[in-house]
Amino acid sequence: MYDTIIIGAGPAGMTAALYAARSNLKVAILEQGAPGGQMNNTADVENYPGFERISGPELAMKMFEPLEKFGVDHLYGIVTQIEDKGDYKVIRADEQAYKTKTLIIATGAKHRQLGVPGEETYNSRGVSYCAVCDGAFFRNQDLLVVGGGDSAIEEGLFLTRFANSVTIVHRRDQLRAQKILQERAFAHEKVSFIWDSVVEAIKGNDLKVTNVDIRNLKTNQVTNHAFGGVFVYVGLDPVSDFFRDLKITDDEGWVVTDDRMRTAIPGIFAVGDIRQNQLRQITTAVGNGAVAGQEAYHYIVDQGL
Ligand code: FAD
Ligand code: NAP
Repeated sequence: MYDTIIIGAGPAGMTAALYAARSNLKVAILEQGAPGGQMNNTADVENYPGFERISGPELAMKMFEPLEKFGVDHLYGIVTQIEDKGDYKVIRADEQAYKTKTLIIATGAKHRQLGVPGEETYNSRGVSYCAVCDGAFFRNQDLLVVGGGDSAIEEGLFLTRFANSVTIVHRRDQLRAQKILQERAFAHEKVSFIWDSVVEAIKGNDLKVTNVDIRNLKTNQVTNHAFGGVFVYVGLDPVSDFFRDLKITDDEGWVVTDDRMRTAIPGIFAVGDIRQNQLRQITTAVGNGAVAGQEAYHYIVDQGL
């Protein structure tokens, strides 16, 4: 029986593990992949205090390394079920069942797809959701980035390191991204914009993407453009399908908590991007993690578990 199990080793989960372990709890962190979460798909982080600039994977490693020292068990597995048994919870992952007095859900968010013809066909053959992972394969190409948020603009700027040109197509005529990123994109000689427009279809040959149909939402006209790659950044969906039966999410699947990270089920907490929340950042994720790590400790003491 663990005192605390944390599902997800992104910044929220890793911080929760650190705080719970430093309270001398018996802690495990359960992760389906490499520790780091979305940070592993981020080229440069420039808004995490203490670092002027650091790569996402490097920051991930810096967060993960101390956990072993504090005795956190690192378990590998895809969690498929959570059962609330009152004083304890059962977590099922890859044929294993783990028991824990408290549970911290830190499963984060995953990228959304466009849902247009050609997107599936050319996935990994010109269509990508991760500039950090795939950008270097697109040297000297003309690339299309879809979206107007922080991810589209930041990762579009990252792609200018490799690409001949980066065109950002956005469905409105104003970006959602932070002003500092907007200013950099507007000033960059390799970056241009197609406003009020959406991708209609992604086309190519037997090997890879060659062209994209783009519809102007104001004129309804569809035009065809040559692009060697399409990077999609149109927002995030919560990773909560496997525990929707617990009824701790809103209609979209984001977990509802109070400011102590408590869900509607005693002993179950949620942190980071998976929470119903306005600002989804590394700083907010680690802040949530710290609170939940402490709250798990207090819950166990208060309940006499
Ligand atoms: P995540 O990072 O999403 O981690 C969740 C973890 O849970 C993952 O490792 C996942 O594998 C695991 N998991 C999920 N389901 C299961 C399961 N069933 N079983 C086991 N494990 C599971 N924020 C900034 O502050 N600065 C930036 O510069 C920045 N750049 C970004 C760039 C991009 C392209 C993106 C997409 C996001 C960026 N963000 C940035 C946002 C930031 O990365 C997130 O807010 C943050 O990572 C959220 O942390 P988290 O721990 O809540 O979740
Ligand atoms: P986001 O903020 O939700 O932005 C998604 C963008 O895609 C929006 O511009 C949206 O348009 C557009 N869009 C949505 N659906 C679309 C569709 N079907 N077709 C075309 N366009 C569509 O998502 P994000 O940029 O991935 O950011 C997610 C979170 O991570 C945010 O909280 C963000 O702040 C954070 N993040 C932070 C940093 C950083 O701090 N440097 C970097 C990256 C991400 P509208 O604008 O019209 O809605």
